[in-house]
Amino acid sequence: MTKPLLEVDGLTKHFDIKGGVLGRKVGSIEAVNNLSFSVNKGEILGIVGESGCGKSTTGKSILRLLEPTAGTIKFEGEDITTLKAEEMRRLRKDMQMIFQDPYASLNPRHTVEKIISEPLLVHGMSSKEQRKNRVLELLETVGLSSYHASRYPHQFSGGQRQRIGIARALANHPKLIVCDEPVSALDVSVQSQILNLMVHLRDEFDLTYIFIAHDLSVVEHISDRVGVMYLGHLVELTEKEKLYENPKHPYTQALLSAVPSLDPDVKKKRILLQGDVPSPANPPTGCVFHTRCPMAMDVCKTAKPSLTEVEDRHFVACHLYEQAIDDLSYIV
Ligand code: SF4
Repeated sequence: MTKPLLEVDGLTKHFDIKGGVLGRKVGSIEAVNNLSFSVNKGEILGIVGESGCGKSTTGKSILRLLEPTAGTIKFEGEDITTLKAEEMRRLRKDMQMIFQDPYASLNPRHTVEKIISEPLLVHGMSSKEQRKNRVLELLETVGLSSYHASRYPHQFSGGQRQRIGIARALANHPKLIVCDEPVSALDVSVQSQILNLMVHLRDEFDLTYIFIAHDLSVVEHISDRVGVMYLGHLVELTEKEKLYENPKHPYTQALLSAVPSLDPDVKKKRILLQGDVPSPANPPTGCVFHTRCPMAMDVCKTAKPSLTEVEDRHFVACHLYEQAIDDLSYIV
């Protein structure tokens, strides 16, 4: 069996809350807690959840744009968690990021040629002519034209700006791209064009994506497998078809019940969750979803469920299924 391209084990990221005159630590925001998953080469892993669930922090921690508090990240079998900044710079070539707001991530005073050339120069392409040729090639790859090279970001539409962001991410032939809400700022019609382009690029260049989004339909469109996050925890992880046809975690079931069906004959029962998402600075004990879960039991208030394989390649963190597994093993 081939080794995964990326292996994340126990990834945790907490941010200190400082207070008082001396700026001492008075608490912490538990943004990401003990996440473990892997991503195979050529795969698109979607990570979905409401805003503030820790999905963007997860993406940035994987690329070490944020330093993880605990856990390990292996890329092509190499533990990159403790690599020094200089060694990480070498790896940045292979691990790229596409951001939600392409306008904010593109320098408004630089031409498109300069923006896309920059990573080429950083990673050693010293010939100006070579860089220019590569920029033109990249513009064509993402569906733009050579004359766009001399223009500035404000002269483009949102979709075109995201194409520029993608061209810049592709410049040094990366292997893994973390895409953080790459289409959420775009109109629906433009969203599908960008998603189709990304799938096409994955196939053409053998790319691997971690695709972070809050929109379940967008994630369904592009992903091979999907992980669902709630309050910094991975609560369900499986293949796309299994997740959308047979969601097992009560939170996933509630999220999916809110997505309108395309078939007018299918009447869905909407599961309305009570209350708000608790603060990650003061998360509930036990299962972090217990304050809103319609299925909560006494055990959920005290014991944290771990992500368990309840069916073939279908992982869920919920006591309901641990119970079912225990019963089964007793019968056997
Ligand atoms: Fe609900 Fe309990 Fe399962 Fe958490 S562990 S999702 S509270 S049933």
